[in-house]
Amino acid sequence: MRKEFLPFSRPSIDEADIAAVGEVLRSGWITTGPKNAEFEEKFCDYTGCDQAVALSSATAGMHLALKALGIGPGDEVITPSMTWVSTVNLIVLSGAKPVFVDVDRDTLMTTAELIQERLSERTRLIVPVHFAGAPVDMEPVRKIAAGRNLHIIEDAAHAVGTEYRGQKIGKNGPSIFSFHPIKNITSGEGGMFCSDDLDLVDRIRRLKFHGLGLDAYDRQTQGRSPQAQVLEPGFKYNLPDILAVLGMRQLARVKDFNARRTQLAMHYRERLAEMDEIRPLAIPSYPHKHSWHLFIIRLDAHPSKLSRNDFMEELKRRNIGTGLHFRAVHQQKYYRETMKAPPGGLPNTEWNSERICSLPLFPGMTHGDVDDVVDTIKEILIS
Ligand SMILES: *Cc1c(COP(=O)(O)O)cnc(C)c1O
Repeated sequence: MRKEFLPFSRPSIDEADIAAVGEVLRSGWITTGPKNAEFEEKFCDYTGCDQAVALSSATAGMHLALKALGIGPGDEVITPSMTWVSTVNLIVLSGAKPVFVDVDRDTLMTTAELIQERLSERTRLIVPVHFAGAPVDMEPVRKIAAGRNLHIIEDAAHAVGTEYRGQKIGKNGPSIFSFHPIKNITSGEGGMFCSDDLDLVDRIRRLKFHGLGLDAYDRQTQGRSPQAQVLEPGFKYNLPDILAVLGMRQLARVKDFNARRTQLAMHYRERLAEMDEIRPLAIPSYPHKHSWHLFIIRLDAHPSKLSRNDFMEELKRRNIGTGLHFRAVHQQKYYRETMKAPPGGLPNTEWNSERICSLPLFPGMTHGDVDDVVDTIKEILIS
């Protein structure tokens, strides 16, 4: 058994990151300012998008996007139930109706065919979720949206560095990234909204800071112009420079982080290949580059032998941490009690919700750590 606990995720922070944050703290300007502008510029360079807006979280980004698109009562938003709860919570809080769409059983991502079944006269927005580092097959989804004049907002929380058909996620339509500590890069907390729709970006910039008309950090006055006026009521979802500088430093290393994640994921796949009871997610067949945000398996042992929850508990007892991405949103207490089950149900979402488990994966891990996880899984399943 491992002597030291192996967490399922751990951020890669180095001394230079810490020094860069220290420098901002000493600079006299710690909230949104020059480091935000630089981070946004570098994020555009990296993804190829035109405009990027740094935010306090991806959740904040989704809130702003719903507001900016005017989604509200009477509108339907199609989103998978196999996602983090934040999007669905915000759809409900906006007064609109979330319409849950099922996912492919082996990639956990929704498809154009599944979305097609959920369209109605009231549909206004589709929120595809790129999952675990792989991209949704967006081309057919974009076709559906274009044909009906629907908006798309891509949940790219798992997709920093992910490519779809030769282009980075973020390049080809409004996307929201997360820099929460478990994501591929972190700013402590934080998010980025990317788009080349200038009107939408303007609206997001305005709404992220009280609805003030003048966003630009003014280098002369070392701050926001005191003349800025409220153009509409807005929120306060800006990212402090203390965090922006950390995100920027991490972005400079994302290529190495993701390469390391890929090596570790390939080692898992090799070592797990012979085990029938452990099914890793499938890798999509369309052209893409995976960023290996998560290494997800489905435990397909007979439930009388070992439930997923017991499996996670057994790993924990043997000093190995795991994650659960995700418990289906429609099965969470509030949504179970307030929403009718969708017609035909969400069979693939439900099948996975009971069986998925995220194994440890972060750039600081070694192949030996992966071996420890696999050996421990074998020990648990054989005993
Ligand atoms: C992490 C995550 C979010 C939310 O990101 P925050 O920055 O924590 O708000 C949204 N969607 C998915 C799929 C996520 O994994």
